[in-house]
Amino acid sequence: MLKRMQISANGVVQGVGFRPYIYNLATRFSLSGFVQNDSSGVFIDVEGCDSSVDEFLTCLAKSPPPHAIIEDIHYTTLPPKGYKDFIIEESAIKETNTTMICADISTCPDCLKELFDTMDRRYRYPFINCTNCGPRFTIVKDIPYDRKNTTMSDFRMCHDCSSEYHDPQSRRFHAQPNACPVCGPQLMLLNNEGFTVQTQDPISTVCTLLQDGKIVAVKGLGGYHIACDALNSNAVSLLRKRKYREDKPFAVMMENIETVNKFCFVNAKEETLLLSTQRPIVLLKKKSDCTIPHDVSVHPPPLTPPTRGGGKTFPPPRWGRPGGGAELLPHDIAPDNLYLGVMLPYTPLHHIIIKESGLSLVMTSGNVSDEPIAYKDNEALERLKGIADYFLVHDREIFMRCDDSVVKVVEDKETIIRRSRGYAPFPVRLQYAFPKPVLSCGAFLKNTFCLARGNHAFLSHHIGDLENTETMNSYETAIEHYKRLFSIEPEVIAYDLHPEYLSTKYALAQKDTISKIGVQHHHAHIVSCMAENNINHKVIGVAFDGLGYGDDGNFWGGEFLVADLSGYERAGHLDYVPMPGGEQAIKEPWRMAISYLYHMYGTDIHLLRLFDTQKFMKERNDTLEILLKMLSRKINSPLTSSMGRLFDGVASLLDLQHSVNYEGQAAVKLESIVDEHIIEHYPFDINSNVGTRCSVSFIIQWQPVIKKIIEDMHHKTASPTISARFHNSIVEIVLQVCTMLRDSKGIDDVVLSGGVFQNKFLFSRLVKKLKLQGFTVYSHKEVPCNDGGISLGQAVIAGERLKTCV
Ligand SMILES: [Zn+2]
Ligand SMILES: [Zn+2]
Repeated sequence: MLKRMQISANGVVQGVGFRPYIYNLATRFSLSGFVQNDSSGVFIDVEGCDSSVDEFLTCLAKSPPPHAIIEDIHYTTLPPKGYKDFIIEESAIKETNTTMICADISTCPDCLKELFDTMDRRYRYPFINCTNCGPRFTIVKDIPYDRKNTTMSDFRMCHDCSSEYHDPQSRRFHAQPNACPVCGPQLMLLNNEGFTVQTQDPISTVCTLLQDGKIVAVKGLGGYHIACDALNSNAVSLLRKRKYREDKPFAVMMENIETVNKFCFVNAKEETLLLSTQRPIVLLKKKSDCTIPHDVSVHPPPLTPPTRGGGKTFPPPRWGRPGGGAELLPHDIAPDNLYLGVMLPYTPLHHIIIKESGLSLVMTSGNVSDEPIAYKDNEALERLKGIADYFLVHDREIFMRCDDSVVKVVEDKETIIRRSRGYAPFPVRLQYAFPKPVLSCGAFLKNTFCLARGNHAFLSHHIGDLENTETMNSYETAIEHYKRLFSIEPEVIAYDLHPEYLSTKYALAQKDTISKIGVQHHHAHIVSCMAENNINHKVIGVAFDGLGYGDDGNFWGGEFLVADLSGYERAGHLDYVPMPGGEQAIKEPWRMAISYLYHMYGTDIHLLRLFDTQKFMKERNDTLEILLKMLSRKINSPLTSSMGRLFDGVASLLDLQHSVNYEGQAAVKLESIVDEHIIEHYPFDINSNVGTRCSVSFIIQWQPVIKKIIEDMHHKTASPTISARFHNSIVEIVLQVCTMLRDSKGIDDVVLSGGVFQNKFLFSRLVKKLKLQGFTVYSHKEVPCNDGGISLGQAVIAGERLKTCV
């Protein structure tokens, strides 16, 4: 009996070797017909013997290609048509694109084997790829995903590559970025004035330069990295200086897990993530003796001249701990941080450089301080010439910039801190559908935007802090690109309530035919977490972060919300405190410390004799007087209930960090010294505040906590003990407020969101205690708990409010 079946599959089915896979499967079962990419996914028409068609369908369902994600699949039985053979048809274009674009995939084991096989025609070819690996999202200009719609369209395949591309038995059958040294992209080495450096072998020259301590900009998958020898203190400090990046940790690329183990603790889950095809930066706990101690001034001995020539393996220059033999990372790599961001090589170029140089490399985004990562060649040269000594460039254009993703394992689960390369643009799939297409604009820090339709929320890659023209341009370009790729023309725009955010201004500047919905920052945080956990009932939301604009015009950030997807009630918050100098208080935690003290002791804080021995405060005595005047006269001192600011203030009180140069720096330091053995906490008060409409909210009085910290300081209690007692106090506060809310509202589900929960000690201890008290706790998995996740919450809230309006 002949049987004919049409199948359409949606999801991530393009750029993952789906058509070759279908071709081979159909041929195996002697079926005829065709397979074709179209704008909604893959379309298959097969016919053949009844049982063979059934077996074909079973195989497709049981073992699709490794990187494919089939979200929907539809089958239609039709009368046989008499196809002669099975072919891959030209792609068809439909009016609307509903397919998904595959994220970039790290080099696969098969390609790696060929890369280092001296007999292979792609030996040491830095652009080797196949249907299972290589660039995708960053080279796609349009869909369907065909070579002509990628930046590979400029390269004409040679005879050999073309044969592979058309050979159903080849791993490169219909591999769109297929290339080889004869026909594909080429490397070039430039100096920082843009002139070509004459060399037969740019990679081996770059290896030598890196071994000599030089800083090299390397064009990667989603943009330029700036690389230097991670074990060379001088190179690392020089890079910091040139990049105007004072303390923010650098990520390091290491050859393999064995190397990573020398410097960091790696558990099974972390190892899986390091080796995953996404190849994110994984934050790993540093081994206590992995870095050169801060107070030891280490001057590296003169470098042993590396062996030159051949471009193969060089003995890398190394120096060890004074008097010892172990390899040590400079203190400067990730100062005052318990964690080190580590990734393994993910492009063929990385693999060759790391292997042949024998180095571990700092691989930091190619940008100056907070600008977006450079990805166009001319722009990179212009912007990075003051940082890099040399540029390793190539002629395959990057169409969409995309930074490295950052993840961390907490309680044996992957948590995403920056969702970008390898993850974007795969959507978050929701159980509820959006009634209309929505664009949500995100917040200010760590911005992402989100385009949503149907059950899909396409959360963008990491855009960055929206504070300069470059980032704003990259934001607007990316929004247009996503709109085109996923055929989403938003009818609704959601934005943050902060009137000064550039994302808010962008939203409000859109044409009037698009409805605009303002969403409170912390409500968006809670709903982003609810959305990815597929909850749509009322929850107790705990949103702790730096700052978010509140309904009352104050800066919120230590919030307890009783929330659902469309609205919330502010059920509790940290007591307000002024931020003297406004934004300046974010950069200078010592201002917060003074504000907490002033709030309690007035100008008597001089009598506390707290800062007498602290050099920093002595140096700021003049400013201190001005600050006290500001506070007493309530000038330029907006009120905040931020938990992030409380962590800042305590870090400064303990003389750990008085000014910061990246978000969360003071809190990271406070966490880094915690004595985990300490279980006691400080006392605190919780007052009930009866508001309008008789609603009761809890005001958390932090004053007793600060008072006890000062007492402990007077008693010369060790800072790690104080830090632990402080962390434990926050845990107890949350526990108590949640218990009171459970009693009054009958809600058992607690949702945790906001950047403060990146603090592993606080998060783990809190989750454990909440669970012990019978709460069900929800936290983030797929999207960041920091402001990078805000756009998802905004989109869902807007969608939900639309439903109630319809
Ligand atoms: Zn491959
Ligand atoms: Zn070729």
